[in-house]
Amino acid sequence: MSFDTIPKDLRGLRACLVCSLIKSFEQFESDGCDNCEEFLRMKNNKDNVYDHTSNNFDGIIALMSPDDSWVAKWQRLGRFTRGVYAISVSGNLPQATLREMKSRSIAYKSRDTSQR
Ligand SMILES: [Zn+2]
Repeated sequence: MSFDTIPKDLRGLRACLVCSLIKSFEQFESDGCDNCEEFLRMKNNKDNVYDHTSNNFDGIIALMSPDDSWVAKWQRLGRFTRGVYAISVSGNLPQATLREMKSRSIAYKSRDTSQR
């Protein structure tokens, strides 16, 4: 099993605004997001990492088998790769990214649940 999706450092952690996967800035920059790289394109692109991840997140869930976890289902993470996820992520995606996701028919729902 690969541990590339597990944060390598407890400092400088960021969470993806689309899927809430938590990794260090360097990991997002070198590998992109394991779930969303296809349309967020963060690999080797610092600006995209800043735009599509947030250092303002709450709660951490470690998922070993997302497809049969009720927690994953409840957090809408069932289809994602195993890894460490935030419960709530604050921040907004750029309009251009929202348009791109829409054009790919990818439903976007904010990961920010801190107001509820
Ligand atoms: Zn993601």
